[in-house]
Amino acid sequence: MLRIGLTGGIGSGKSTVSALLVERGAVLVDADVLAREVVAPGTPGLAAVVEAFGEGVLTPGGELDRPALAAVVFADPAQRARLDGVVHPLVRARAAELVAQAPQDAVVVQDVPLLVETGQAGSYDLVVVVQASLPVRLERLVQRGMTEEDARARIAGQATDEQRAAVADVLLHNDGTREELAAQVEAFWAERVAGR
Ligand code: ADP
Repeated sequence: MLRIGLTGGIGSGKSTVSALLVERGAVLVDADVLAREVVAPGTPGLAAVVEAFGEGVLTPGGELDRPALAAVVFADPAQRARLDGVVHPLVRARAAELVAQAPQDAVVVQDVPLLVETGQAGSYDLVVVVQASLPVRLERLVQRGMTEEDARARIAGQATDEQRAAVADVLLHNDGTREELAAQVEAFWAERVAGR
């Protein structure tokens, strides 16, 4: 098994890269997907979040009210840490389960937006970092429906390009076209995955 940790700032192109890797046969374990799964209705994770933050973070239908929760934790780093303390261990446990279920010779890609922030670089055989410049990321995020203000705030709350580059085994540059990105992924696959 080859374990690849894929990261990059919001809007850098992680999801685009993970899709290209899946096309080549990688098994994807997506932290964003798991973060939703572990607090789905009826889970112990959701019960733990409600215990920590109260019924006010539930919709009338009993689902997690993400905007309400975001409003609580965005303004207050201590509350944010509390939420992370509930959700992150659940996500890691579920990710470990999925990795254990993958075939022994699989190439497993874990898409982990906060890989650097949570100090997980050492958990992978290879760390792949996707980078794009700030104006390009802002433009793509706004195109995706985010306000520029939200996009800037999210970016400011994450690690810097330098911090991510410092732990990268492979850097992919995504200021250009999708085709240029795909060519870099293909070269990476040929050299570091297929040719390993
Ligand atoms: P992340 O997962 O890192 O937040 P995405 O892969 O979702 O980033 O990319 C952010 C947005 O930019 C998406 O809407 C995506 O389709 C678009 N995008 C990614 N790479 C390119 C590119 N090279 N050219 C144009 N648009 C791109």
